[in-house]
Amino acid sequence: MTLVATDAIVLHVQDYLESSRIVRLVTREHGVQSVLARGARKPRNAFGHSLDLFASGVAQFTLRPGRDLSNLTGFDLTRSRMALAMDLDRFATASALAELALRFAHADPHDEAFDVLGRSLDEVAASPAGTSTVSGLAAAWRYVAALGFSPTLDRCCACGSEVAEGLPVPFSHHGGGIVCARCTRSVSIGRDLPADARSAISAWLADRVAPATDDLAQRAHLRLLREFLHHHMGDGRALRALDGWEARLRRPA
Ligand SMILES: [Zn+2]
Repeated sequence: MTLVATDAIVLHVQDYLESSRIVRLVTREHGVQSVLARGARKPRNAFGHSLDLFASGVAQFTLRPGRDLSNLTGFDLTRSRMALAMDLDRFATASALAELALRFAHADPHDEAFDVLGRSLDEVAASPAGTSTVSGLAAAWRYVAALGFSPTLDRCCACGSEVAEGLPVPFSHHGGGIVCARCTRSVSIGRDLPADARSAISAWLADRVAPATDDLAQRAHLRLLREFLHHHMGDGRALRALDGWEARLRRPA
């Protein structure tokens, strides 16, 4: 049994028995951890409001090899991100990002992905009304890249030859990127990627701001992201928060 203290983000909270909570954290040094916060639902408890969804802090817990649930002994809040809970679009976007982390985060230390997630939640929390989808799309692709699954968008994912910009290009989920005209017969193609979608994702991956996109384009982006995650990283299980995020966008305003 080891007592550890590590940077962590609260990704899921559920009540447990009469007075406690089970909290799922993504941590900088120990991947995703489920921890038991004893007494966290009592009126005056050691955790206060620090364990709210999407909060960042330094978590102290006991790490027991082979045990699913560790004991959370402290959580020193560094950032609460209350703004994410106050707007349904931001909340849906942040929930989809949290789901990606819960599903795909590595079990071993992963500084870059951890930092990308924290920064992305800040950006979604600070996004003006109606723009959280774009912040979330940018965040999701950067997170996918930080986990090592960056899509290839500057050249053919099969043969490596350059693919001219400005035209729709075939995109292969299986190959993990765009495909040149010569390779379309040998690589399974998911769908055509419009030129503006290609440059938007490239911009997001390079940490640049992409030109504004309308609702229709955002829906197409989310569809591509969902398909990419299922084909390239998924285990066949549904990504419910991602589906919920997409459904909100499909609903008429
Ligand atoms: Zn090729």
